[in-house]
Amino acid sequence: MDANTIMALGLGVSPPWKLVEQRLDTTVQPHVLHLEVAVDRGTMFACPQCGRACKAHDFAEFTWRHLNFFQHHCHITAKVPRTDCPEHGVLRIGVPWAREGSQFTLLFEQVALVLVREMPVLAAARIIEVTDNRLWRIVHHYVRKAVERLDLSKLAAVGLDETAAKRGHTYVTVFIDLDRKDKPVVFVTPGRGKDTVTRFKAFMMDHGGQPGRVVEVVCDMSPAFIAAIGETFPNAAVTVDWFHVVQLFTKALDEVRRAEARNNKLPKALRWAILKKADGKMTEAQAEALAELEASDLLTAIAWRLKEKLRWVRKADTVQAARWRITNFLRHAREVIGDNTILDPVRKALGTVEHHRQRILERWTSTHSNARLEGFNGLFQAARARARGYRNTTTFATMIYLIAAPLGDLFKSI
Ligand SMILES: [Zn+2]
Repeated sequence: MDANTIMALGLGVSPPWKLVEQRLDTTVQPHVLHLEVAVDRGTMFACPQCGRACKAHDFAEFTWRHLNFFQHHCHITAKVPRTDCPEHGVLRIGVPWAREGSQFTLLFEQVALVLVREMPVLAAARIIEVTDNRLWRIVHHYVRKAVERLDLSKLAAVGLDETAAKRGHTYVTVFIDLDRKDKPVVFVTPGRGKDTVTRFKAFMMDHGGQPGRVVEVVCDMSPAFIAAIGETFPNAAVTVDWFHVVQLFTKALDEVRRAEARNNKLPKALRWAILKKADGKMTEAQAEALAELEASDLLTAIAWRLKEKLRWVRKADTVQAARWRITNFLRHAREVIGDNTILDPVRKALGTVEHHRQRILERWTSTHSNARLEGFNGLFQAARARARGYRNTTTFATMIYLIAAPLGDLFKSI
């Protein structure tokens, strides 16, 4: 085996292609190793359509960026023929070291994808020394191909949630398979509400799924979602995720706090203390603020105690117990809020719970854990961090797929 053959193997170059020339250009920084790949004169090529051996019609020169050769950039150049098939006419053939239309070799793209699975795109782009836009193009391509291969024929339980790609800006809605323990994401689409459910149905049917097979959908309490789900999945029980019940009251509580703060002096650290997750760690100031709140006769204290009482509802062991606790909770809550208008946000939340009571209760009979849906937030945060700086819906969606969809071997697509 001569040196050129060994190099050729490392490049993914296979016969009839061979490495014919290598030259290090030291006039540029970083230096560039140019590798020229060619075929012998008179070589026959397979027609890309039918495989018939054809003569070369003509050649055109292409260049691909390859993995760095130590500290030097590396470019491969080759004159690629077009075949002239009697049946299919003149067509450009593919080369074994790169996919059609790419300006990078397959090995380069493979390394790029490995890095992007481990770190933010910007960091990966710096390591392999390409522009981030070019790297995104590679990532989009492989993720799209892998998503096209998803098999949803067994999909029977779906969870969905929406999130902002940028704070307060464009939204994406994410659908997960509740039966998958890890990598549960099966569909990500821009927007929120009814249309996203319609698009999911079309996607599902394109991937072997049947809407009639879906027996459970877990979602939030938005009327648009719920109506669309009922129409789209006729056999599905709709379960309201407990997380959204808590979120509803947290939001109401914050609205009450803001309204009350206009006229009353509230403990300083209160805002963050009441927004903290139930079991989240608190600073001393926050703990003090809560203690002060508990001892006070503020309306915010009433709203806070009601939100805390949700935990007691949540701990019910059976659906019967849960039904009783929700009834008790609603009655008690209405008593304590009386008719004070500052507590209107809580009143509204209570109405929403009452309206969705049956769907909320479904979680006690559901065979699917809610824990996975609660994991949504962590996923969204991770995707935001990885796509930092490029957070349009496409990059955000691609990153969510890359982190949490069962894409398998991204390289199977070539
Ligand atoms: Zn042909």
